[in-house]
Amino acid sequence: MGATTMRSISSLIHKLKTDYPEVSFVKGDVFAWSPETQTVFYNNDIPHASALLLHEVSHSILEHSQYRRDVELLALETAAWDKAYELAQVYHIALNTDTAEDNLDTYRDWLHARSTCPECTANGYQINQYHYQCPACTTIWKVNEARVCELRRRTVQRTTK
Ligand SMILES: [Zn+2]
Ligand SMILES: [Zn+2]
Repeated sequence: MGATTMRSISSLIHKLKTDYPEVSFVKGDVFAWSPETQTVFYNNDIPHASALLLHEVSHSILEHSQYRRDVELLALETAAWDKAYELAQVYHIALNTDTAEDNLDTYRDWLHARSTCPECTANGYQINQYHYQCPACTTIWKVNEARVCELRRRTVQRTTK
């Protein structure tokens, strides 16, 4: 009670740096995990910063790097939130389930937008990393690249052709 978000996140970052010395923590515009550079990006100004920080650290602990199908990404996101709840207990951070659910909803919406056939709105299946096909009308459509935890900026972009 009373501690500012910024103060609590900096003390949390300090503890995480000690416990996970192999991970770099870098201030960025958004929360993100970069498996290539083993870096967690964070931004104090975003609401629920502590929860999001624990979520990104969870991606690193679980060694999340690649996924081949969009549904796998949703599984990775869910796993990272489950891990974040464990970390929240360890570091005494209040983590509201709504934070995780709201975040996962953005992925569910994204997945739904990507997998909906632009011609007939049937639910398509993913045939490779960037293409879906409709089982009803056989339309194939291209989707944009999306990376772990960097999706929210792209979720509104719906491929129409
Ligand atoms: Zn279709
Ligand atoms: Zn994530």
